Amino acid sequence: MRARSLYGWTGRLARVDLSRGTCHVEQLNSRLLETYIGGRGLAARLFLDYAPGTGDPLSPGNVVVAAVGPVTGTAIPMNSRVHFVFKSPLTGGYGESSMGGSWPSFFKWAGYDALVILGASEKPAYIVLEREGCRVEDASQLWGLDAYDAEEELVKMYGVSTARAIVIGPAGENLVRYAVVTHGSPRLGIGRGGQAGRTGLGAVFGSKKLKAVIAIAEEKSVPVADEEGVKDLARSLVKKLSEKGIVLRRYGTMAMLDIGNALGFLPTGYWTRTRFEGLTAEKINSEVVRGRLACISCPIACGRDARYRLNGRSGRVEGLEYETTYALGSLLELDEPNAIAYLNDLADKLGIDTISLGNVLGLALAAREKLGLDIPSGKPDVEVLAKLVEDIAYRRGVGKILAEGVKAIAEKLGLEELAVHVRGLEPPGYDPRGLWGMYIAYATSPRGACHLRHMAYIIDIRGLAGDSRSLSKEKIMAIVEWEDRMSLFDSITMCKFSRDVVHFEEASQALAVVTGLDYNVKLVREKARLITLLAHYIERNVFGRAASYDRIPARLLEQSADGKAPAPRQLVEEMLAEYYRARGLDAEGRVKLEELRRLGADI
Ligand code: SF4
Repeated sequence: MRARSLYGWTGRLARVDLSRGTCHVEQLNSRLLETYIGGRGLAARLFLDYAPGTGDPLSPGNVVVAAVGPVTGTAIPMNSRVHFVFKSPLTGGYGESSMGGSWPSFFKWAGYDALVILGASEKPAYIVLEREGCRVEDASQLWGLDAYDAEEELVKMYGVSTARAIVIGPAGENLVRYAVVTHGSPRLGIGRGGQAGRTGLGAVFGSKKLKAVIAIAEEKSVPVADEEGVKDLARSLVKKLSEKGIVLRRYGTMAMLDIGNALGFLPTGYWTRTRFEGLTAEKINSEVVRGRLACISCPIACGRDARYRLNGRSGRVEGLEYETTYALGSLLELDEPNAIAYLNDLADKLGIDTISLGNVLGLALAAREKLGLDIPSGKPDVEVLAKLVEDIAYRRGVGKILAEGVKAIAEKLGLEELAVHVRGLEPPGYDPRGLWGMYIAYATSPRGACHLRHMAYIIDIRGLAGDSRSLSKEKIMAIVEWEDRMSLFDSITMCKFSRDVVHFEEASQALAVVTGLDYNVKLVREKARLITLLAHYIERNVFGRAASYDRIPARLLEQSADGKAPAPRQLVEEMLAEYYRARGLDAEGRVKLEELRRLGADI
């Protein structure tokens, strides 16, 4: 590969030391960028430089790395995404989360490929990033504000047209282990926002007394190698994405609710059943959805603008999304869209991941006696749930233990047989008894139970490798292939909802016209494999969480109350071994260092 100059990338990294209150801009060498591309690949590689080791994730020794890709902020559609890597305070292992919206583009336009956050501040702080440099500012006046108020105050201070801020809410300040970093307050009117929601990044920010990171972009452009090539490719992709994205545009992610009910994978009643007739996409759309929202550069606009009325209060929230609707709806057997939207709004303001939150509430309801909760059985009262959400965010009463997450609650109260998590992460809305590929995806995703790393639910729903309730070598090969392609999306960076249009060929074309380098399908496949293995390497080799952590919760290996049989345990074990083989892991589930080096890793 021959470099002409740096296009697509800015070549700049902001290194912040919160203990000293300093921020320095450093150059990233082109070989590092070409090898790890950006986003997930670059963030994971930079994370390794700080010897993550065995320290407490909520101590100053934890490091947060954020990175965007060469495509971010260009004219290529659906590019506004950033990837974070850190040690997770929820799982104790590899933490990662990806976020869309507008902040990722502003971060790139402000002149950065990556941000490294070290140490911890003594007093509340926020980071300012702009082309002229970066600095740490006092955030005392923002500490204690909810996420909407904090973001609005900062963005208005620096200018709505030029600035975007990611913030934490009270949950992050109070170290709730599934707190988020977020942006896109519905009151700001800046389109679809985004949340780095999974594995507790908000708590890591809180432990560092970091309230926000603001990116200021006077110029909104990224130099690319082949301007005409970028324009041509962008035009062609926008046309195809608009055609393929009709359902997503019409229903948002909510279409999955009806598919889940039809196929029987919609987690219901804290993982006891697989269907919930009380909610449909049409019901959600007609009762609360009032418009669409898009990330920067997206022709699909999967985001929803929802309004709710409930018990004398009214509000506006970005959503509802499928994952939130499952977690705060079917999982809790709550069938009122207005009530779900209200809980969604509350969680967003307080800065809590709705997937983990719904699972914690579901476990709390299932174990109400053990937790000493005086809540009658049956359909839950939304006001009781809302009070629990606030108690969690402020760590009041029973909220103290609930703020620790499902795994910690289960260990403390002896609820391991009841609790549903993998590696300490609560699952999204795909019961593997209805989609058997999700057994392998949940067991092997480096961050724990996750749908976004392998996209196995798509393979199952579409029957791309056999029946949805089957496991085979063919399906494992498909899972490995999709896992690599999703690593590429997270690195270049592009939204995964472009998956029906952007394959390795289109991704390599985008990289080539943006960077001017000789990216081709073969090379891009190798990079994708390298980046996938790098994430596994951190979780499995560095943190030592290999085969013994690849476990499916007991409840999901039993027949559901509505008759959905699980995959046979023996078959799941055999297919896990098959995954290790296809993924190139050793028999203990660890990454072979020689394979990483063969693919170009400098570790
Ligand atoms: S499809 Fe949705 S998440 Fe993806 S870029 Fe578009 S608006 Fe953002």
